[in-house]
Amino acid sequence: MMIKENLKAIRESLPDHVTLVAVSKTKPVEMIREAYDAGQRDFGENRPQEMQSKHKELPEDIRWHMIGHLQTNKVKYIIDFVHLIHAVDSIRLLEEIEKRAARIGRKVDVLLQVHIAQEEAKYGFDDKELKELISSGELTGFEHVNVRGLMGMATFTDDMRQVRSEFKMLKKFHDSILELEDDKKLDMNTLSIGMSGDFEVAIEEGSTMVRIGSSIFGARN
Ligand SMILES: *Cc1c(COP(=O)(O)O)cnc(C)c1O
Repeated sequence: MMIKENLKAIRESLPDHVTLVAVSKTKPVEMIREAYDAGQRDFGENRPQEMQSKHKELPEDIRWHMIGHLQTNKVKYIIDFVHLIHAVDSIRLLEEIEKRAARIGRKVDVLLQVHIAQEEAKYGFDDKELKELISSGELTGFEHVNVRGLMGMATFTDDMRQVRSEFKMLKKFHDSILELEDDKKLDMNTLSIGMSGDFEVAIEEGSTMVRIGSSIFGARN
């Protein structure tokens, strides 16, 4: 298995300000342990129950990132240990996280997912919704949710010019939010963009967090 070597090569190519989330979805705990032994601590999963069972089996100091679409009725599986929820795409989900986090006295970090790809909208806020959300001041009203930045996924294509322009757009949203939000209550400094196929481009366009799976653990079925 090449996990250690893959990790080392990727880490060496990342600037210091970029966090590597090793996306371990569908992969067994043995593979995660191998990455852990090579010093990796941030892992990404996209299914709440799978993340919960891996969390139980693996060391406590792993930082678990929920990177997939999260249904409100599944927040309960991860709320007591999740490190960062990347794909928050509705107020309803924010409210559920707030409610559950309040109950256990945690403050949970989240990112807002923004829809930047050309593909038919799956999940995520668009530019207009995001601006409205920020200007409404609603985000700063959550006492147990900390909005730390934005997350996005580029169109699934080999055309890196297209991918680059979508990342650029997200970076622009991010910067414009920082201007909009002039009372500076939000502490937004995370831009989660870049996967195995496009993380170099994402970093050039301002990524501070890359989510890499197949280039570390091999292809998924
Ligand atoms: C699976 C997944 C990744 C990792 O994709 P790779 O191409 O294997 O690096 C990153 N982000 C999200 C949201 C994912 O679902």
